[in-house]
Amino acid sequence: MSETPRTQSEAETYQRLRSHLAFLKLADAAAALPQVLDEARAETLSMVEGLEKLLAVEVTAVEERKLTARLRFACLPAPWRLADFDYSAQPGLDEALIRELATLRFIDEGANVLFIGPPGVGKTMLAVGLARATAEAGHRAYFTTAADLAARCRKAAIEGRWATMMRFYAGPKLLVLDELGYLTLAADAAAALFQVINTRYTNGSSTLITTNVGIGTWATAFGDDPIVAAAMLDRLLHRGVVVGIDGPSYRLRSHQARAEALRAGIEVSPHANR
Ligand code: ADP
Ligand code: MG
Repeated sequence: MSETPRTQSEAETYQRLRSHLAFLKLADAAAALPQVLDEARAETLSMVEGLEKLLAVEVTAVEERKLTARLRFACLPAPWRLADFDYSAQPGLDEALIRELATLRFIDEGANVLFIGPPGVGKTMLAVGLARATAEAGHRAYFTTAADLAARCRKAAIEGRWATMMRFYAGPKLLVLDELGYLTLAADAAAALFQVINTRYTNGSSTLITTNVGIGTWATAFGDDPIVAAAMLDRLLHRGVVVGIDGPSYRLRSHQARAEALRAGIEVSPHANR
C-alpha cells in the first residue's frame, strides 16, 4: 500500500518535503520518497535510518550519472575490461605486474606505463581496461591515439587554440596514448607529444603509452629527432613501468587454429585414402 498522509497537516508537511527535494534537485530521492516512507513505516525505522535510506538513493543515482559521464569523456574504443584479459594466451606477460597496475597505485604515484610489443598481443585491451578501471575508481581518464593527438595539436596550433589544447591533455588523471610509433611523426607532432608528456610529468599525472617500437629505436622513430625522443623517454621512464608483451598475436589465434586444422587435415587425408 502506498504511503498516504493521515491528517491535513501531515499532508501539507509531505508536500513541503516534496517541494524541498524538488528545489534541491534531488529528483531520485523525490521519486523514491513514497516507497522509502512505506518501508520506514513497515519496518518502524528511526528518522536517521529513514533519512539515510532516502539520501542513499540519491547518492547512488548521482554516482551512476557521474560514472556514465566519466566513461563518455574517456572515449574508450571498446568495452574491454581487465577481468576479460586471458593471461594464459600471453604466457610471457608478467601477470603480477598487470595485477599491480590494476590496483591503480601507479596513478596515485603519477607513474607512467609503457606497453611495448607487436600488433595483436593485447596492448590496447590492457590500456582500455586500465582506463576503465580509472574511471570506475572516480578519476578522469582519456583515451586517444598518438596520431589523433598529433592531428588535433596541429589543428589547434593553426586555429590559435594551442594553450587550450595543452590544458585539455594535461587534465585527466590518466592519459592513454595508443599506437605510438605506428606512424612516423612530423617534427611539429613530435614536439606536441613531448609537450604533453612533459606537462603531465611535471604535474605528476600518469601517461600510458602503447607502442610497437622498442625503446632502443625510439630515437629514429619519432620525428627523426633523437634529442626530443631522448627527452621524452627521460620523462616517461623516470617514474615509469615498462611492460614488454611479445607473445603470440591474439588476433591471429583463430587464423593459426584454422591453419593448424588445415595442416592436420592434409596430414590425415593420405591415411584416409588408404
Ligand atoms: P594490440 O593493441 O596489442 O595490437 P589488442 O589489444 O587490440 O592488441 O588486441 C587484439 C584483439 O585481441 C582484441 O580484440 C583483444 O580484445 C583481443 N585480445 C588480445 N589479447 C587478449 C588476451 N590476452 N585475452 C583476451 N583477449 C585478447
Ligand atoms: Mg592496439
